Amino acid sequence: MHMRRTVNRYKTRRIARERIEILLTKAQEVFPRDRAKAHRYAELAKKIARRHALRFPRRWKRRVCKKCYAFLVPGASSRVRIYKGRVIITCLRCGYVVRLPISNV
Ligand SMILES: [Zn+2]
Repeated sequence: MHMRRTVNRYKTRRIARERIEILLTKAQEVFPRDRAKAHRYAELAKKIARRHALRFPRRWKRRVCKKCYAFLVPGASSRVRIYKGRVIITCLRCGYVVRLPISNV
């Protein structure tokens, strides 16, 4: 039975990863006409990742606010600046700020 459980866990996580990808792609799509919906998709993706202890896909990692789970679109729902060799990402919904070394973005 152990084998089966391992396979199921693997499969469950793979499906979770797919759902996260779909949700964030939809968030991107719907954002221009329905920001609230985009934020809901982003939050849901975050919840799925947490439930399955999955890392967020690299390309989406900076696109969801760590504090309020808003879907971040630079110039629309987030502000991106470079300051002293760091990238400063500010969530325009809650004001949360992330500072990253440029090499880390
Ligand atoms: Zn936020």
